[in-house]
Amino acid sequence: MKEHEPMEAERHPKAPVPKTRTPGPYPLPPRERRTGLVLIYTGNGKGKTTAALGLLLRAVGRGMQAAMYQFVKTTDVERGEHVGARRLGVEVVSMGAGFTWLSESIEEDRRLARECWARCAEALHSGKYDLVVFDELTYALAYGWLDHDEVFSVLEARPKGTHVVITGRKATEELVEFGDLVSEVQEVKHPYRTRGLGAQPGIEL
Ligand code: ATP
Ligand code: MG
Repeated sequence: MKEHEPMEAERHPKAPVPKTRTPGPYPLPPRERRTGLVLIYTGNGKGKTTAALGLLLRAVGRGMQAAMYQFVKTTDVERGEHVGARRLGVEVVSMGAGFTWLSESIEEDRRLARECWARCAEALHSGKYDLVVFDELTYALAYGWLDHDEVFSVLEARPKGTHVVITGRKATEELVEFGDLVSEVQEVKHPYRTRGLGAQPGIEL
C-alpha cells in the first residue's frame, strides 16, 4: 500500500461504491471479530481531545457504545462536549475533581491517579464499551504516578475488539511503543500565542 493511501473498510474490500450515501453501509460485526486498537493522540498542538471526541461521534454512528474518562482537572461548569455527548448517549466522566496536579505531595498525586485508573480499568473490563477514551492519561504515566506495566497489563487484558484512545501531551516512549496507531499534533500557530486570545465557545469549551 502506498503511503497515506486511504484504507478501505476491512470487511468489504470489493463492496461497490454507493451512488448515494446511505446510512450505515457496512454492518457492524460482533465485537469479538473486530480488531481492537490502542490509539494515541499526543503532541503540543490543539486537537488531541478534539480528535478523540470525533472518534466517539463516529463510533456512535456505528451503533457502538462509547465513553470518555477524563483525568483533567475541571471546573464545575460543563463544557460543550459534556452536553453534546449526553445528547448522543455517550458517557463523559470527569474524574478530575480533587485532582491536585503537581501538588506538594507526589504520594497524593499517585493515590489519586491510581483511584482514577481503577475506575478506567473497571469501565474497560465491564465489557460495556466498544470504544473508551482515556483523556489526558499521558501525564499520569509521564510523571510516574502510574506504572507503565500496570497500565499495559490492564489494556492487554481488555475484552477483545475494544478500542482504546489515549490523549495528552508528553506521551512516553513506552506508551508510543505500546500503541497501534500514534498521531502527533504539532502546533504551527495558536491564537493564544499570536493574539493572546482565550478559549472560544464551541472551539475550546
Ligand atoms: P482540544 O481539547 O482543544 O482538542 P488538546 O486536547 O489538543 O486540545 P490540551 O493539551 O488538552 O490540548 O490543551 C487544552 C486546551 O489548551 C485547549 O483548549 C487548547 O486550545 C489549549 N491549547 C492547546 N494547545 C495550545 C497552545 N499551543 N497554546 C495555547 N493554548 C493551547
Ligand atoms: Mg486535551
